[in-house]
Amino acid sequence: MNNNDLANLIFPNINKTIEDYEKIYPKRKSNDEQAVTRFAPSPTGYMHIGGFYQAIIDYMIAKNTNGIFYLRNEDTDSQREVSGASKLILDTLKYYNIVPKEYEFNGEIVGNYGPYIQSERKEIYHAFIKYLISIGRAYPCFCTKEDLDEMRSFQESHKVRPGYHGNFAKCRKLSVEDQINLIKEGKPYVIRFKSNGDFEKKFRFIDEVKGLLMLNENDIDDVIMKSDNKLPTYHFAHIVDDYLMGTTHVVRGEEWLSSVPKHIEMFEAFDFNPPKYIHTPLILKKDGNSTRKISKRKDPEASMSYYKELGYPKTAVIESLMTIINSNYEQWHDANPDKTYLDFEYSPKKMSSSGALYDLMKLEDISKNIISQMTKEELYKESYEWAKNYSESLTKLIELDPDYYKAILNIEREQAKPRKDIAKYSDIESLIWYMYDELYNPTDYEWGKVSDEQEISNILKTYMDKYFTTDSEEWFSKVKELASELGYAANMKDYKKDPDNYKGNVADIATVLRVALTSKSKTPDLCEIMCILGKDRIEKRYRKFYKD
Ligand code: GLU
Repeated sequence: MNNNDLANLIFPNINKTIEDYEKIYPKRKSNDEQAVTRFAPSPTGYMHIGGFYQAIIDYMIAKNTNGIFYLRNEDTDSQREVSGASKLILDTLKYYNIVPKEYEFNGEIVGNYGPYIQSERKEIYHAFIKYLISIGRAYPCFCTKEDLDEMRSFQESHKVRPGYHGNFAKCRKLSVEDQINLIKEGKPYVIRFKSNGDFEKKFRFIDEVKGLLMLNENDIDDVIMKSDNKLPTYHFAHIVDDYLMGTTHVVRGEEWLSSVPKHIEMFEAFDFNPPKYIHTPLILKKDGNSTRKISKRKDPEASMSYYKELGYPKTAVIESLMTIINSNYEQWHDANPDKTYLDFEYSPKKMSSSGALYDLMKLEDISKNIISQMTKEELYKESYEWAKNYSESLTKLIELDPDYYKAILNIEREQAKPRKDIAKYSDIESLIWYMYDELYNPTDYEWGKVSDEQEISNILKTYMDKYFTTDSEEWFSKVKELASELGYAANMKDYKKDPDNYKGNVADIATVLRVALTSKSKTPDLCEIMCILGKDRIEKRYRKFYKD
């Protein structure tokens, strides 16, 4: 009895060899520069910002090199799987235009290297495991949960490095005969990789972000195939899939860095070249005076749905992530204002190796800028699209009179210095509500220096009687004339020279006109607001303050 007998006993129906699969999935016809990257999430029901930023990097690397970015569904852990999760992942990528060239969804396989869903690749993994068993580099392990618990507590109490290694790797020492007999008896088993490594020895490893690292060799006989569903573990699937799918760059979280020695050893066992690795730093956030990891449990912004629900423009979300992806991104963007992130050349060397601090204020700034550059038609379209999904009240306002809504959006827009107060579509309603009689029912008026009711009445009445205009050319000079007539300085210079000579200045007058109309002391251009509201509505609002 030899290893071949063992391999055939475990996988009697696996007839294809690694060479067969190499023919089915030939090396991709690309030149050395063209990268093949993949996003390989587990469908656990959530699109984490950390995964999404890895997907952007994957996409950028492929784009920069005219290569291929594909999506692989890593669903080997059926207990953690949540239905609908793979749809959410693909939808999120598509929503942000980070579209994979190859993927599988709903029975449709796009690309020649599929299936792209791991649970559908069982036979392939089995062929690779069968080979390892036949060359003596993998074996069945019959240790029970109790055996492993015992091993762990022994290692803990004796301060021994944890894991199934050296003398702790009990089943490694079983003869092939014993292994075959135990399988025939029906004993449950997993398959473990047989490591040849020596933990005391170091080897050189280059991570594209962290640079040259000296790592300890692996000596742990890791599980590569689970007992219940006969699916591979992440470690093994990574080797097989990234080899057959021709991945050149693996972008993944730095929590996988400690697994690199096992991955390298497994690639070597097959005589495959490992891909390049880009281990991305954790996304951090400021919390008071300290920084900590963004947490799925505590921070709503850890989920990509947060940004969509609040209505941040897609480009703003991506650009805010670009600023933590590459430290020179903002500088590059300032120097190339007409270019988009798609023109940017990603470099792992310009990635922080210690942690990426994500700042929602930065997102707000980027977003305000992007929204300020939109035309009214663009903002109308985007915000309406958002409202239909997330805000019944804004949808109602828009549908009441789309042109009126557009006119409001156009205040201080499509000009050299546009307004920058909208950071997300969910801000809009709270910034424009006073333009709608349906919503205008203020309880609080933000009066400034002038708060005397008689004086307010006087200012408003005189304005409506003598100086009202919606002609932007003469609007401000009329307000100045009103100021002069009522004893306020018409310009600031005069006022500063001799403040005691006046009741106040033209800004105080403008504030009264503004607050009486909107209840707010800060609004965009008042003349534009008046023009849109129209004389009747203005008069109606002002009348409330008239005294006899
Ligand atoms: N399925 C793994 C995860 O979700 C992917 C890691 C990788 O990209 O290789 O963490």
